Amino acid sequence: TPALAIRGLTKVYAGDKRALDGIDLTVEAGDFFALLGPNGAGKSTTIGILASLVNATAGSVQVFGHDLARERGTVKAAIGLVPQEFNFSQFEPVGEIVVNQAGYYGIPRARAWEKAESLLRRLGLWDRRKDQARRLSGGMKRRLLIARALVHEPRLLILDEPTAGVDIELRRHMWQFLRDINAEGTTVILTTHYLEEAEHLCRNVAIIDDGRIITDTSVKELLSRL
Ligand code: ADP
Ligand code: ADP
Repeated sequence: TPALAIRGLTKVYAGDKRALDGIDLTVEAGDFFALLGPNGAGKSTTIGILASLVNATAGSVQVFGHDLARERGTVKAAIGLVPQEFNFSQFEPVGEIVVNQAGYYGIPRARAWEKAESLLRRLGLWDRRKDQARRLSGGMKRRLLIARALVHEPRLLILDEPTAGVDIELRRHMWQFLRDINAEGTTVILTTHYLEEAEHLCRNVAIIDDGRIITDTSVKELLSRL
């Protein structure tokens, strides 16, 4: 069963803006996959639909064989989302942000703290767990988003432009962390407009432009064409 199977996915926003125009995409379980494309191509819309934040106009999405429209709870539990924005409370302690997220999935607090500790340690944030989020640097907030996305142990991690505005040292640290997570069995999909990011991290890539998939291939194959 693929991690993700998208068929004919279409999104028309109010005002007749066709953001996605019949997208087909398959991501195999265990893959590290990049959705590459310029600003306005439809990357965030695609992710918004996967995360149940945006309703599709037409088409179907299956996550590990579960239909997004019919089995929304199962699909939500299977996905961890790292959004572009720091959409957590700036006044909440870092540890609580991660643990409370686990609460939405019904994970008991003691269990959630164990998982949060392991993630926050790996991401270099454990010493900051009692600090309010606003005390963190931008790079630390990005890592907090990643810890929060993984606390319920999703099989599929989706990151929307994870390293936008991140300095090179932190970018390398994040890249290594994502490689490790993928090697441990989590399927990873990220959106990016940097070919370099896809090149360093990903096995397979789809290029999206103006709401259509124009290339869907391995990163190796894509690079050999340039
Ligand atoms: P990307 O993430 O690749 O930059 P988006 O998915 O954000 O692309 O946007 C795809 C297209 O849909 C763009 O033309 C954008 O302006 C438009 N769009 C995005 N969100 C909305 C919205 N809420 N209402 C109307 N148009 C939107
Ligand atoms: P202290 O004794 O230092 O005041 P508390 O046990 O009252 O510590 O918890 C303070 C903070 O420690 C909490 O807000 C939370 O961020 C973190 N925390 C709470 N429980 C745990 C736990 N089981 N493991 C790790 N950190 C925890």
